[in-house]
Amino acid sequence: MSYLNQIRVRFAPSPTGYLHVGGLRTALYNYLFARKNGGVFVLRIEDTDRARYVEGAVENLIVTLKWCGLDYDEGPQLGGNYGSYIQSERLEIYKKHIQILIELKKAYYCFCTPERITELRDSQQKVNQQTKYDKLCLHLTQNEIEEKLKNNLPHVVRLNIEIDKKVIVEDIIRGKVEFDSNLLDDQVLLKGDGYPTYHLANVIDDHLMKISHVIRGEEWLPSTPKHVLLYDAFGWEKPVFAHLPLLLNPDKSKLSKRQGDVAVEDYRSKGYLSESLVNFVALLGWNPGIEQEIFSLDELVELFSIDAVNKAGAVFNIEKLNAFNFEHLRKKDDREVLRILKDLLTKSKYSNHSLADDTLLLIIEAMRPRISFVKDIIENSPYFFEPPESYDQEVIKKRWEEDTPNYLRTLAEEYSRLNTPSKDDYEKALHKAAETCGVGNGKLIHSLRLALSGVGGGPGLYDILFILGKEESIKRIYTAIERIK
Ligand code: GLU
Repeated sequence: MSYLNQIRVRFAPSPTGYLHVGGLRTALYNYLFARKNGGVFVLRIEDTDRARYVEGAVENLIVTLKWCGLDYDEGPQLGGNYGSYIQSERLEIYKKHIQILIELKKAYYCFCTPERITELRDSQQKVNQQTKYDKLCLHLTQNEIEEKLKNNLPHVVRLNIEIDKKVIVEDIIRGKVEFDSNLLDDQVLLKGDGYPTYHLANVIDDHLMKISHVIRGEEWLPSTPKHVLLYDAFGWEKPVFAHLPLLLNPDKSKLSKRQGDVAVEDYRSKGYLSESLVNFVALLGWNPGIEQEIFSLDELVELFSIDAVNKAGAVFNIEKLNAFNFEHLRKKDDREVLRILKDLLTKSKYSNHSLADDTLLLIIEAMRPRISFVKDIIENSPYFFEPPESYDQEVIKKRWEEDTPNYLRTLAEEYSRLNTPSKDDYEKALHKAAETCGVGNGKLIHSLRLALSGVGGGPGLYDILFILGKEESIKRIYTAIERIK
């Protein structure tokens, strides 16, 4: 029995400083596949490109994955039997393996200078030839190689790709994909700085970490024949490959920063819930074939099947994400919404508000049916946190008549007689005041709303009264009478 029968998958990001939504989709599909099949989900940091090193990127990545609820079983900060899970800590392993390839003549030293490589490329481009290394150094004798190494000549190690070979990539999403080895460049495997390239490190680690399924973005498909050749060169069993469809802008171009946010961190700071982002991203390239679209992470695990992933690119539609946020906000536990709201309030201009949790919970209850984001509570109903600074002119024009101050005074008097009023009490008192004034309730309702909130719309009027409380409501009525002329 092959060791690959035990399902082990990995998410292998390069730490660039943020998590791309495409990266989240890759991480998520790996996670779902592992959880669905009782497998292991590994996080491996591919940081061998030192030029792209970003301070704090790994920590940030882990925080973001955690925020999304994607817990890994092995990886940095957690450990596991196949560590280190950070490639820059595995250099000795790569060096040892590259020696094996050199001995097998599957890889060779290349001492060509960057100038020669550039010249070669230019001359190939001139005659419209495919640009690739011409294997010059493959023909060095053992003595020549040893001499150059002794003299510390800068060098790289390249994969020796045989010519005229068909390389087959078996992909569970795309089927058999065939590549012509003549179109593949003798890939650099070990760089001049002693670091491996992505290709070498990726294959060695996938093998040593016993990865059974390589699930990653389609942009890696062109690299896969090189990986297949590496597995074959080492004589290793290959994992199963699954290349996920591209993410597209609505105009069908490749998803790019220019047309919107691509970093998970940006969506987080804009107030999207992790549940909705994860739910939305899960459906970019896969669907469970049922009408329902709103799922929790656990439900996604239950339904996920890698065989059902599409080949065609998936369009990233922000309106749909917003709609998902509306739905998930509806389902979210009161206490969690409270936590988010309090956090947002601390960062807002209402940071020294003195509202108790119970009051905030009432605000959440009143506002939740009408918002997509927790931050909308603050943006759409600032009047819960401070008295209105101004009054909507349109509403004044429509609802504020000459006698309105009198009606409101009557109402305020009515309210001042109430003792710890309920919503019902506020409503009854309003009816009573209207009767006293000899007008319909409407004459009081709209102007009262304006006085309390400064605007013409929002949650139920009696909810607002109840949340603000009797003293504050009466105060706002008199202020409005004073200020609206
Ligand atoms: N380090 C690659 C990346 O940044 C990993 C690709 C793979 O999964 O093989 O996406």
